Amino acid sequence: CYVPKIYCLGPNLNPQNEDLLAPLLLQSPLEWYLCGEEPSVGLAKLEQNNQPSQLCGHVFKVGEPTYSCRYSCAADPTCVLCMQCFLGSVHKEHRYRMTTSGGGGFCDCGDTEAWKKGPYCQKHEPNISDSSQKDPLANLSDEMIARTYNVFSIILKYAVDMLTWEKEDELPEGLEPPARGDTYYCMLFNDEVHTYEQVIYTLQKAVNCTQKEAVSFATTVDRDGRKSVRFGDFQFCEQAKSVIVRNTSRQTKPLRVQVMHSSVVAHQCFALKALTWLGQIIRYSDALRRILCQVGLQRGPEGENSSLVDTLMLCDSKMWKGARNVYHQLFMSSLLMDTKYKKLFAIQFAKNYERLQSDYVKDDHDREFSVTDLSVQMFTVPSLARMLITEENLMTTIIRTFMDHLRHRDLHGHFQFERYTAQQAFKFRRVQSLIGDLKYVLISRPTEWTDQLREKYLEGFSAFLELLKCMQGMDPVVRQVGQHIEMEPEWEAAFTLQMKLTHIISMMQEWCSSDERVLIEAYKKCLSALTHCHSGFTDGEQPITLSMCGHSVDTIRYCVSQEKVSIHLPLSRLLAGLHALLSKTEVAYRFPELLPLSELSPPMLIEHPLRCLVLCAQVHAGMWRRNGFSLVNQIYYYHNVKCRVEMFDKDLSMLQAGASMMDPNHFLMIMLSRFELYHIFSSADCRKRYNRENANKDVVQQNNTLIEEMLHLVIMIVGERYTAGVGQVECFDEIRREIVHQLCIRPMAHSELVKALPENENKETGMERVIDSVALFKKPGVTGKGLYKLRPESAKMFNLYFHHYSRADQSKAEEAQRKIKRQNGEDSVLPPPVLPRFCPLFASLVNILQCDVLLGILGAVLQWAMEPSGGHWSESMLQRVLHLIGMGLVEEQQHLLSSAEDNDTNFNFTLKISRPGEAPANTPSILALLETLQNAPHLEVHKDMIRWILKVKLIQISLQSHLIGSTVRDKDKAERKRKAEMARLRREKIMAQMSEMQRHFINENKELFQQSLEELDPSTSSTLDSCDSTLFCVGPRRWRAGGSDRRQVVTCILCQEEQEIRIDGKAMVLAAFVQRSTVMSKNRKRPPHNPDKYDPLFMHPDLSFGTHTGSCGHIMHSHCWQRYFEAVQAKEQRRQQRLRVHTSYDVENGEFLCPLCECLSNTVIPLLPLTKTSCRYCNKHTLDFDLQLQWLNITSLQMKALLSAHRKAKAADADGVDDMDGVNDCPPPDGFKLDYTPKNPYSSTIKEMLTTFGTATYKVGLKVHPNEQDPRVPIMCWGSCAYTIQSIERLLVDEEKPLFGSLPCRQDDCLSSLTRFGSACWTVSSHATVQNHFIRLLAALVPDPRVENTPCILDIDMFHLLVSLVLSHPAVFSLDSSGLSADTAQLYFLHLVTVAHIVQILLSSVPEEVQMEQESGGAEREEEEKVCMFYNTLRTHLGSGLREVDSGWHLWCCVKAGILPYLRAAALFFHYLNGAPAPPELHSVGEWEALCGYLCLPSNLLQLFYNNRELMEPVLHGWCSHPGVRSSSVHYSTISYFRFPRESNHLIELPGDYSALINQASSFTCPKSGGDKSRAPTLCLVCGAMLCSQSYCCQSELEGVDVGACTAHTFACGAGVGIFLRVRESQVLFLAGKTKGCFYAPPYLDDYGETDQGLRRGNPLHLCQERYRKIQKLWRQHSITEEIGHAQEANQTLVGIDWQHL
Ligand SMILES: [Zn+2]
Ligand SMILES: [Zn+2]
Ligand SMILES: [Zn+2]
Ligand SMILES: [Zn+2]
Ligand SMILES: [Zn+2]
Ligand SMILES: [Zn+2]
Ligand SMILES: [Zn+2]
Repeated sequence: CYVPKIYCLGPNLNPQNEDLLAPLLLQSPLEWYLCGEEPSVGLAKLEQNNQPSQLCGHVFKVGEPTYSCRYSCAADPTCVLCMQCFLGSVHKEHRYRMTTSGGGGFCDCGDTEAWKKGPYCQKHEPNISDSSQKDPLANLSDEMIARTYNVFSIILKYAVDMLTWEKEDELPEGLEPPARGDTYYCMLFNDEVHTYEQVIYTLQKAVNCTQKEAVSFATTVDRDGRKSVRFGDFQFCEQAKSVIVRNTSRQTKPLRVQVMHSSVVAHQCFALKALTWLGQIIRYSDALRRILCQVGLQRGPEGENSSLVDTLMLCDSKMWKGARNVYHQLFMSSLLMDTKYKKLFAIQFAKNYERLQSDYVKDDHDREFSVTDLSVQMFTVPSLARMLITEENLMTTIIRTFMDHLRHRDLHGHFQFERYTAQQAFKFRRVQSLIGDLKYVLISRPTEWTDQLREKYLEGFSAFLELLKCMQGMDPVVRQVGQHIEMEPEWEAAFTLQMKLTHIISMMQEWCSSDERVLIEAYKKCLSALTHCHSGFTDGEQPITLSMCGHSVDTIRYCVSQEKVSIHLPLSRLLAGLHALLSKTEVAYRFPELLPLSELSPPMLIEHPLRCLVLCAQVHAGMWRRNGFSLVNQIYYYHNVKCRVEMFDKDLSMLQAGASMMDPNHFLMIMLSRFELYHIFSSADCRKRYNRENANKDVVQQNNTLIEEMLHLVIMIVGERYTAGVGQVECFDEIRREIVHQLCIRPMAHSELVKALPENENKETGMERVIDSVALFKKPGVTGKGLYKLRPESAKMFNLYFHHYSRADQSKAEEAQRKIKRQNGEDSVLPPPVLPRFCPLFASLVNILQCDVLLGILGAVLQWAMEPSGGHWSESMLQRVLHLIGMGLVEEQQHLLSSAEDNDTNFNFTLKISRPGEAPANTPSILALLETLQNAPHLEVHKDMIRWILKVKLIQISLQSHLIGSTVRDKDKAERKRKAEMARLRREKIMAQMSEMQRHFINENKELFQQSLEELDPSTSSTLDSCDSTLFCVGPRRWRAGGSDRRQVVTCILCQEEQEIRIDGKAMVLAAFVQRSTVMSKNRKRPPHNPDKYDPLFMHPDLSFGTHTGSCGHIMHSHCWQRYFEAVQAKEQRRQQRLRVHTSYDVENGEFLCPLCECLSNTVIPLLPLTKTSCRYCNKHTLDFDLQLQWLNITSLQMKALLSAHRKAKAADADGVDDMDGVNDCPPPDGFKLDYTPKNPYSSTIKEMLTTFGTATYKVGLKVHPNEQDPRVPIMCWGSCAYTIQSIERLLVDEEKPLFGSLPCRQDDCLSSLTRFGSACWTVSSHATVQNHFIRLLAALVPDPRVENTPCILDIDMFHLLVSLVLSHPAVFSLDSSGLSADTAQLYFLHLVTVAHIVQILLSSVPEEVQMEQESGGAEREEEEKVCMFYNTLRTHLGSGLREVDSGWHLWCCVKAGILPYLRAAALFFHYLNGAPAPPELHSVGEWEALCGYLCLPSNLLQLFYNNRELMEPVLHGWCSHPGVRSSSVHYSTISYFRFPRESNHLIELPGDYSALINQASSFTCPKSGGDKSRAPTLCLVCGAMLCSQSYCCQSELEGVDVGACTAHTFACGAGVGIFLRVRESQVLFLAGKTKGCFYAPPYLDDYGETDQGLRRGNPLHLCQERYRKIQKLWRQHSITEEIGHAQEANQTLVGIDWQHL
């Protein structure tokens, strides 16, 4: 055989090259030979004749969505469809489940056995039905068949030989290369023991590679199962091997390493390629596929089980992962796709089953990489499963194999899990997968039984009984007295086994119930197994005789509290289940002669279940406290929904079965004896308990609980009739009743109900079929879940003593039900419900209610209750007794009502309870006792029940005597009383509701209440008081605070003292959070700035990074805050030293939680009063544009002077000599004092806070170390002010809210203090610095040749420029005493910036003209003309670069729309800066005129230019001649530039159906490790990038720390804040910085209004727009970090998560 010499060269197998060579050198010759002609032609011919399989067979990738139908269409729950098939199938319209595949497994579309309904999708629908029977080989020529046979057998044989070859240094005969070089690989193999970290660390040491290479090696090893980590001579490789082995052998077994000769490796690589090729070639034709199957299954020379397929399977655990994957895939696409050979393969698989499982148990690879995992593909096919049972005895084989692996038994032959070694525990985990196989085999019940099937099933059943025998009585416990147990015994393993077997046990019963003969035989076998187990149950236990109330019975002496007792009784429980089936299927009545009923010993049957229930009662009574938690846990699981079906429920059934066959008096006496209560009730004077038994209070208490539990058990034995076979019910009656009782506790979500109901082996509860008949569905709001609420009429089924209620459930349900009854004005009594009738086999159980022993017990308790309780009776005890009496009455009523049909009833409860005791005691009758108790003052709570009983009794008596009518008077009286009571209750309810509402309201609106108190102070209210009818917020005519002292008084949340805000007063501060933001970014590609060099003076209009300031609005004294913060700091330092735990806030970074609302904060903003501007402007009310020119001239003179002064100072600083010629001495204009230093008006604490906040903004905004001297501090403050205002303006637009009057107080306060802070922050910076900033800012508007590096107006965000100009101006203005007004200056800045913005818009944002010309009214005419003129002026300045636009209307629309956000932001800014109240028009939405008016601008903005051309023309010329404008003039408005208005950013669009996302994620591959599947694909909701999260491959370094893909992306995309959707988990992830994060509910809901975090339930999920908008809002208002803080405070475990690695 020709094997070319590729795959063996070079040190690092060069995959790309060889992958290119392979098809050329290897495959095409084979294909030529196969076809006998050009392969492309031959294969096409083959394809034409191909009879495509009706099976879809699509093999699932990891994470791909799979669909299963939850109607009964599928044969079993493992039947799944791929997305494509699902969408084309009928099941799309059914209720379906969607899950993500774990990889492997294939689509079952087209498999008629897998589906009872709708087996085909549209694509796989067979067109001609007869062709499926034809032999596929018929279409092939004989020569071709022969050739194919030849090639396939050689290749397959070669591949199998090579893959199973175990020698490292030699090859099979004939394959040895002629010349052997000393070339070896050091091959590292995968195991599931060592972690990535260990492997990476070891590799770096052993083969001296970089961390990156090591990561890549480790990734490949994990994926392919092996990887050569070194190439060279033997010595060289051996050395690396020994280092690796040495390094990893310390704790665990060493990593597997082999030094392999290069030729061996080459052959193995080639073998893998060959197998892959086989897989590809058989895709062309079903005929080729069949030949391959034949070749594979052909028996080899060694006889049985020696085919190539067998060889591969049997060597499975010896192969590396990559090899296994390849051949498993080949099996799936060949053997499992051919119906004929699937069967043959299944037989071989079953024959090898034991070997394969044993290999797997020892294998260190997970099951998904084991050939045993293929069992699901065969065992779930009903016909195959049945064939394997009958022909290969598969059931027995599986069970025996399982037993063989659990050899560890105790003296009695029980499983013993105690003291398992790690290896045994591992094995135990592994071997559990056999139970899974057994489940597959049993999952579809046979519809027809053959004798052979019966025989083999019963054989399997016997084997199963052997298994249960080993469990019957395992893990027994003995009550610990005196000392507490030293070590908690192991209990989990036994329960794991029980839980895993639960469905198997249920399925076994279902199989039995489908055939009478099988049921009878199984019942016999089970009984004899049980008898065998307990044959000697009386051995060594003394018989005793019990007697009571004239009855006596023999039993044994046995005390649960003193002897061994076990909670594991699977045999008894299986028998209980079969017994109920005998009744349900009526076999018991039809073939009584075939049943061993006479062999039944009821006392033996009930003994162990009763002990188990008594154990539970005693644990409740606190008698087993010293036995520790393991017992508590066992009792918990015994009742838990996961186990109870085959544990607690069956024990109850067994007691019912046993009791139904016994004299009820005998049964009760035995029960009393096991409860260790016999002595209390058997004594003659038991009715006087309180006189005798005062010895030990604890014992009395214990006995009380035991009596309660015992009474409860009686209630359940008589009252639980909702098991089919026990009572006359159907199985959905049972579910319905469960649901009713769950909903009686409270309304519940779908998932909560599912959790409370037992699931069958198909993971279905059957709830959907009945839920609507008992409950109403209420849809959810933006938060919360959809809820089911009980229909009022269903409440009558309510049983307070429902057997699945825990005590807590019971009291909650009782409270809820009484409340509802009271609300409806009904009597709040909760009587026992009417029950279905027992099946005949259990019918005698009702007699327990009227038997002497029970009546004796009831009488005794009632007698005790005559006296107020001194501990000798309890309320619950009495309640249960009353309930039992009620049950007796209800039962009697039912009997009376139905007595028309069968008159043989001998149930006469009323009579019995009216009968007084016999002489000599002559005790009063139960009724007499009740009549007395009715008036007992200490029994107030029970009165309604007693009254109800007496009432029912009266009705009963009247029913009996057929005399109705004598009770009318009573009824009348009762009615009146009831009405009065109802009125009282209603009054009470209303009062309670009102006070509740009030409390609630104050709680929820704490902030509001506080705020409203402040607002009551007239000083801050901003109502209109200017006589001027027009309000201006800026300019000389702006609104001014009245001359009177406008005091603002606030309260410190820490010391509760009031404080007036004054310039010279104590500083008050707002808790604030400053963060970097990209929320408004129009350019996420812009790389982050270098924090040390970056000059933030001019914000780029793409707003790519900004600094946002937010606040919760809570006010403190600065000194109070400082003290608080220091305390927090000290506490954290102590805590971190001690525990090294994280907190939700990072103290070292200045973070703290607001002391009132726990909102995350990282600094404080000082509160400042409105600046008092003395009105220096004369009362001139017209806008004089000449003045503006004059002002500008003066200002530029001032600038000139300042500039030269600064340069001089700088030069002087530099070397002390004025040698710079360029600096001309410019004399300052009049009234401008260059050397004047204004006095800082603020108090020292305010100054300190100004510095604090400024530094914080600088530090966070630039991500640098704090430095209060840095010239960029004031710039960052102004920037944050502008950015925050802009973002809030956007928010208001997005929320469609008016500009003023709709902001919450906290934002209002925040903006106002932020703006005022902005205007004051220059006072704590170097004045020269601020003046210099001002000069540069102004130069951008009024070009000044002396100022360098001025950006062009296209690269400036105009609002930022306006804010910076206005806020930096005071530093210059303070030098001026010329009489100019600051207000005028503000207005002029506004004018200039506005014109600049118009130019910016016209240059960048004029879209292609739309031909739809629109005529507008005269009012707009003027604007349109002007804007046209202006545009043409621009064109003359810039030449042809600017497109010609004729439509003035068009241009004006564009300007208006583009500038609106800017004007709105400016209005907000001046509003907060100058405190001018907003005109009412701006409180609503439509606004242009009002806005311009408020801003003191003409509504035709172009007048700003035309009224002042003298000034503006040169300025305009200056802008247009900036090189930046010129260079981009070629392509204005055509490309790349965002347009004004900038659209608000949205989170990305999400698909409506969640499976679309899953599908998208499943085809996403890791961008770094070459086409690998990503384990945790995560979607950035901001930009839509898909990331490979939580994985080594995509970690990168950020600021010196290794971070996962999400964290890294967060910094690039969101300036540290990220919003992601974890697709596999269906979970939203919020990240902030490197250490903070939380999970958030995803915006996808199922039909029940619930999210499915973790995708566990699999209900189809759909996008809820409202919830997504809520997330978007959180993002837009910069609340993500705050949200994380709150989540982490609420759930401390979130703090511990390593968010940075996500
Ligand atoms: Zn499919
Ligand atoms: Zn299909
Ligand atoms: Zn369906
Ligand atoms: Zn204070
Ligand atoms: Zn707060
Ligand atoms: Zn990756
Ligand atoms: Zn992103």
